[in-house]
Amino acid sequence: MIINDARFLTSNSRADLCPAPTLPEYAFIGRSNVGKSSLINMLTGRNGLAKTSSSPGKTQLINHFIINDKWYLVDLPGYGYAKVSKVARAEWARMINYYLRHRPNLMCVCVLIDSRHAPQAVDLEFMEKLGEEGIPFVMVFTKADKQSTAQTKALLADYLKKMGESWDELPRHFLTSAETGLGRDEVLNFIAEVNQQ
Ligand code: GDP
Repeated sequence: MIINDARFLTSNSRADLCPAPTLPEYAFIGRSNVGKSSLINMLTGRNGLAKTSSSPGKTQLINHFIINDKWYLVDLPGYGYAKVSKVARAEWARMINYYLRHRPNLMCVCVLIDSRHAPQAVDLEFMEKLGEEGIPFVMVFTKADKQSTAQTKALLADYLKKMGESWDELPRHFLTSAETGLGRDEVLNFIAEVNQQ
């Protein structure tokens, strides 16, 4: 897919205030600092479109971008930041759960996972919940450039083995790097494929 146009549309704290669900929508989510903003900027080829932040856990808004006037890319607030209060965490869960259940145009959630780390409970639980709710998702492993290809392969194999313990069929997954552009075509082609269905 060629990205001709990528624009910020709205930031909302409530799913019911998001743009009318008239276009297919793809949501990006993951633990704070997973590299979500960098990935969105890499995919769209627009540096600075999503704000990379030095204070993780700060953004608590649902950010809509419109791509090629054809689909929405949604930057969801990250989870799992240790310094976030219980109240803020509960607010996050309420907002995200409502969003996930009330966007009829939500085609797929892209769950971002740092390729350097062993499986983390917070990610596994989030994906488990998506599975239970029947919400389609793919896994997008980030920061692949941070270690050698052999290390990444080993970490990925371990991760998928762990996933295999709870999933009969492994979710589709992509390996990416915002630094090198690895995985860009694969993720964008996947979105183009789903858009055509
Ligand atoms: P977010 O909080 O999930 O939006 O994460 P950011 O996109 O702000 O990235 C967090 C940190 O990881 C920043 O210092 C980025 O420069 C760095 N980062 C993000 N993606 C990559 C990547 O693919 N490779 C490398 N080497 N660093 C990355």
